[in-house]
Amino acid sequence: LSEKLQNVFKNLKRKGRLTEADVKEALKEIKRALLAADVSFKVVRNFIKTVEERSVGADVMNGLNPGQMVVKIVNEELVNLMGSETTEIQFQPGKAITVIMMAGLQGAGKTTTAAKLAGIFTKKGKKPLLVAGDIYRPAAIKQLEVNAEKQGVEVFSMGDQVKPPEIAKAALEYANKNNNDVVILDTAGRLHIDEDMMSELQEIKDTITVHQTILVIDAMTGQDAVNVAAEFNEKIGLDGVIVTKLDGDTRGGAALSVKAVTGKPILYVGMGEKLTDLEQFYPERMASRILGMGDVLSLIEKAEADIDEEKAKEMSKKLKKAQFDFDDFLESTKQMKNMGGLGSIMGMLPGLGGGMAKGMKNLSEDETDQAEKNMGRMEAMIYSMTPEERRNPDLLNPSRKHRIAKGAGVDIAEVNRMVKQFNEMKKMMKTMTKGGKRGGFKLPF
Ligand code: GDP
Ligand code: MG
Repeated sequence: LSEKLQNVFKNLKRKGRLTEADVKEALKEIKRALLAADVSFKVVRNFIKTVEERSVGADVMNGLNPGQMVVKIVNEELVNLMGSETTEIQFQPGKAITVIMMAGLQGAGKTTTAAKLAGIFTKKGKKPLLVAGDIYRPAAIKQLEVNAEKQGVEVFSMGDQVKPPEIAKAALEYANKNNNDVVILDTAGRLHIDEDMMSELQEIKDTITVHQTILVIDAMTGQDAVNVAAEFNEKIGLDGVIVTKLDGDTRGGAALSVKAVTGKPILYVGMGEKLTDLEQFYPERMASRILGMGDVLSLIEKAEADIDEEKAKEMSKKLKKAQFDFDDFLESTKQMKNMGGLGSIMGMLPGLGGGMAKGMKNLSEDETDQAEKNMGRMEAMIYSMTPEERRNPDLLNPSRKHRIAKGAGVDIAEVNRMVKQFNEMKKMMKTMTKGGKRGGFKLPF
């Protein structure tokens, strides 16, 4: 009887759902955290409502308590809200010039960010032209020129007597002749939202075609960020946002506010004064920074990993049964990627057990990077094989290998190496599934 009872409790626990009380309690804490991160009141209120609706009645994941489950949902919603993936600046097709206009308050970081962007674009093989459009601040043109020189990028300037829309027009003509494919307009800001600033930006947009109007906003703007972003978006229309000064100790709530109120993607984040300190925006990182509940988030990750472990066990069973050809190999790399690493699967194989998994964790970041790159190349080679070759690796004679090398863009030595490694791996699988030995084992990729 007692065993039965235990099972009942187990099931109850498994089928646990979040009650309204659970959710309310947890959300109090979350609300505090978001406000402390300087997310705007309005945004917090709407956000909390969304999460509440989604949470009440939701299943509680194994390994989490109700409060942690709410944090998990909050984190997911935060990531969703901030754009579930990174967004790149869209360039015009072919050789057409992409015109980017920086907008934002004074001191937000427009001039610095313009130069940082020019550097990133140059690395991408573009030929950007920086345009000095802030004619009001005495040192603005000089500042742009100094930064541009460090980046090895040309500046188009007409001094401080010509109106910015005229400058923009002339700059575009110059860019056409000069073979520039990206034009970045630096503009003037004011300390506060102001009609003159807005109408000047609008005039520029009326004079030339601007493809990307980018709001540059200081992460320390705090509660004001919402108003600033909303005004800019309404008056001149935004295409994207760059949040600067995230190297400070602000938790970055402004990023969330701005995204929530404009719906426009955050493209990059400024992480310092140096011209290389502009980074791609990652919604997950930002979400966890704003939430500021790192320890709970790692707990959640662990609970998720436990579930992955179940999946990994299944996979290793399949691996053992399979003859293991190149198709299986492809499939397993896919699974590994989904599960976030090689270790999760290898650790499951008998004979290696946890020892292997532990060994994996000891790989340095560089080694892991390298392993992943190698894995990508192996995939490319396998994709260049015919289905028959994938099923029957013994078919691979020199002429076939040659064709594969060409298809994957590698040399034939690499194909040979891959085949050899694959065969070793196959052998290894056999030994391991027989409960073979441990140690002295080097990963083939
Ligand atoms: P603008 O008035 O909008 O053109 O702003 P500026 O580009 O002149 O930048 C104002 C100040 O903020 C400068 O001192 C910059 O060095 C600094 N700044 C800009 N972006 C960042 C950043 O991401 N981190 C830090 N720490 N400082 C920044
Ligand atoms: Mg400036």
